[in-house]
Formats: sequence, structure tokens, C-alpha cells
Amino acid sequence: MTENEIEYHLDGGPLVDYVCEIHSKVVAVSVTRVMNKNAKGLLKRKLDGIAAATEKQKQKLHKSNAKWERLILHVWVQNEETAKIGWGGLGLKCNGGEISFNRQIAAMKMKMADGNSAVLRRNRPGTKAEDWCNWSDEAFEEMDSTLAVQQFIQQAIRKDFTNIEEILTPPEGVEEGVWKYEHLRQFCMELNGLCVKLQTECHPEQCSQMTATEQWIFLCAAHKTPKECPAIDYTRHTLDGAACLLNSNKYFPSRVCIKESSVNKLGSVCRRVYRIFSHAYFHHRTLFDEYENETYLCRRFTKFVTKYNLMSKDNLIVPILEDQNAIDGESEA
Ligand SMILES: [Zn+2]
Ligand SMILES: [Zn+2]
Repeated sequence: MTENEIEYHLDGGPLVDYVCEIHSKVVAVSVTRVMNKNAKGLLKRKLDGIAAATEKQKQKLHKSNAKWERLILHVWVQNEETAKIGWGGLGLKCNGGEISFNRQIAAMKMKMADGNSAVLRRNRPGTKAEDWCNWSDEAFEEMDSTLAVQQFIQQAIRKDFTNIEEILTPPEGVEEGVWKYEHLRQFCMELNGLCVKLQTECHPEQCSQMTATEQWIFLCAAHKTPKECPAIDYTRHTLDGAACLLNSNKYFPSRVCIKESSVNKLGSVCRRVYRIFSHAYFHHRTLFDEYENETYLCRRFTKFVTKYNLMSKDNLIVPILEDQNAIDGESEA
């Protein structure tokens, strides 16, 4: 229930911001923000407002069906220093009786202070290269956003991109479908990096078809009727198509829980994007090696699809892992 839904008998009286239920007790919450230690006046006014609101409720002066038992003043502070404002020194005697800072408020105050000294994991516009993602690691249990799995994967990659084993090990409690989905999203994002490099030397005149070895010409599935797009177009169209599917509201409306029928779509995305690796490997080897040394992307992808049975071994034609059989002769044709 938000402030305009709480009905008061008299207009313009002090409002609380919202009313909610905590441990089956009805609690009214008033929120304010304190920017510096000299904000006692503001806090005093806020407290008077709260007292008046409480008084109104007691005297049943408003028609609200919200009868709160507790009232919390939720104070946002900029930093720990601001949180040291003289809380006790505020005259807390109010008309409606004494408002005391109970433990709940004290705990909240501490938490705000903690929260503000915590690391903000954002790359703001204008972030310099050396500061990019330059924040400390966080345990999976501590990550509280709905993008925690992605955050966890990216953190592992940043920590050591060569440690594929660790990158592919899910934290406890993550559904396998979500785990596979988030990894595939990440692969597609990173494959865009390879695509950008390819643009410099993979031209439609030389690579007029999407091939790896001479065995197959891959048809681009991004069109109504699949067609023979030049390799670089195939690459772009396929990554676009993958991004569309993975962001589709129809198949992947949530990143926390994914339907089995949607998870089943991941295999064909893997097969298609893998061709980008194989084209780069067989036709732009120097470029492929450069990118691979910086990212271990093809190694990670190969391990990933093998681990989760997303592609058959026969289709994994880039001999990037030691235990993969190198294909002899076939590619020389
Ligand atoms: Zn090419
Ligand atoms: Zn195409």
C-alpha cells in the first residue's frame, strides 16, 4: 500500500510512504534520505510528521484500513560517516507519545551504512580501461540480483579465463537449464568479439560461402528459406538470430527458471554458432589463434557442449583440446 492509497480523513496531513507486513505485523514505513551530518532539522521534521501520522491513526481521524502497529523511519545515508549523525541527540519526545529508536531501526541504519560502503559493481559511462570491472569478487550467495548467474560466470572468466573447469562448474542451487542458458548467452557475447576481428579479413569476395573444411557448405538459417550467405554475413546473421532467440520473451521470459522445451532449443544455437569457430580456424588461422589465446573461447565452448551433450563429437571439428582427434588430410582439400 503506497502513500496515496492510505486514506486520511483530513487532506494534506502527514503521510507515511507505505504500509507493509513484516512477520505478520502491520508496519508503516516512512523513507527519507540524509545527505550529511547537519540534517538534524530535516530528521526532526520527519519525526514530527511520523508522530502526527501515528496520532491521527490512534484517534481514528483517517479512514484508512491500514492500522499499523509499528512505524519505521527508513533513513538512507550517503556513507558511514553520515550514519554517525547524533541519533540519540534528537528530541524524540513527540505528541503522540515517545518514539524510540528500537533495535529494528538501529539495525537498518547499520545496514544502510554497510550497503553504502559496499562495492558498486557497475561500469559507468566514461570508465577507463584499467578500471573496467575493477571490483572485488563476490560469493554467489551474496549476489542478490536476478542476473546473479551471469555475474558469477563473468566473474569466473575475469578471474582466470584459462580455468575452464572452474568457469563451467555451477554454484549450488542453480538449475542446469539456467546454467546452460547463461553460458550460451555469454558465448554469443564473446563471439561478437571474434566477429569484429573477422570483419577485417573475412571478405565476401574471398569467403563467399560459410565453409570450414571443404566437406560442407553451411546454409544461413536466418532467412525464410535458408541460403548461402557469405561467411561474414553468415556470422553476423547467426549471432543476431541467436541473440533474438536468447532474448525472446516467448521462449526465455525468465532468467531464473527456464522451461525444458526452451532449454531444448539451445543445442541448435550451439551447432550454428560453432561454425563461426570452425570457419575462423580453417580459413583465418592467425586471427583465430590470436583471439583464442586471449579468451580460450573455443576451448571453453568445446568443453561446454561436450559436458552438457549439446553437440555430437563428430561436429566438433576444430582440434582445440588435447583429447580431440586431429583431423588429418580432410581439411587440406
Ligand atoms: Zn572468412
Ligand atoms: Zn544470412
